[in-house]
Amino acid sequence: MQTVLFHSTIYGPIRSRRLGMSLGINLMPNDGKICSFDCLYCEAGFNAQGPGKDGVPSRDTVKKQLKRKLEEMKAQGETLDVITFSGNGEPTLHPEFKKVVEDVLRLRTAYYPDAKVSVLSNSTMAGKQQVAEALLKVDNNILKLDSAMPRTFRILNRPGSPNCLPEGVIADLKKFSGQCVVQTIMVRGEFEGEHIDNTTDEELDALLSAYLQIKPREVMLYSIDRKTPAENLEKVTKEELERIARRFRDAGITVQINA
Ligand code: SF4
Repeated sequence: MQTVLFHSTIYGPIRSRRLGMSLGINLMPNDGKICSFDCLYCEAGFNAQGPGKDGVPSRDTVKKQLKRKLEEMKAQGETLDVITFSGNGEPTLHPEFKKVVEDVLRLRTAYYPDAKVSVLSNSTMAGKQQVAEALLKVDNNILKLDSAMPRTFRILNRPGSPNCLPEGVIADLKKFSGQCVVQTIMVRGEFEGEHIDNTTDEELDALLSAYLQIKPREVMLYSIDRKTPAENLEKVTKEELERIARRFRDAGITVQINA
């Protein structure tokens, strides 16, 4: 089984195709994965690898390690575009997510005031008040919606809870009043005898309807970049992403593509 984990709480900086020079914060364990989804394309591998033994880092650990790293980077004259919450699972599942976000914003302002703070989230916790408040504090809350159709959502994202459905996610994201970025991976493939394709007309119409309800600041469309735990997934080409982006832009949505 593929298990490409980050083995530290602070990692990088690495050049991200979406975000620039990015210092990562992994709020999940260093030796396992914890996520409320189990996406077929997850770069950290499937949840079946387990949560490991280390547990999640404490708020204090995150603060101390980030401070040390930012001091080192500053001393070496390194540039930084963004501090990104990502890593071995879903960052908003951390029990002190809001407090950690507040610490990170303070450290960013002290060391790299021009850098942005971004959170890559799967949106499943966006309906929780504390999480939503934290997401509204950061510069870029990049919230996942891969399909607005229940069957594709279930097969592609494999939510842990049977009650997690696209209409619930859309309702939660609407409450951000447009202060969010929605990210959608475009993908086709087979998994355990089921065919999935979120690039069909029906899927794109459903996504467009969701975007028009959520009114995000921007939609980020992207395609598979690295090896995925499910083997039979197809990378959607840049030309196709452009075609899909045009369709959404024609309806008034601001779209960025990363291919
Ligand atoms: S939501 Fe993100 S971390 Fe969770 S399984 Fe999907 S891609 Fe992986």
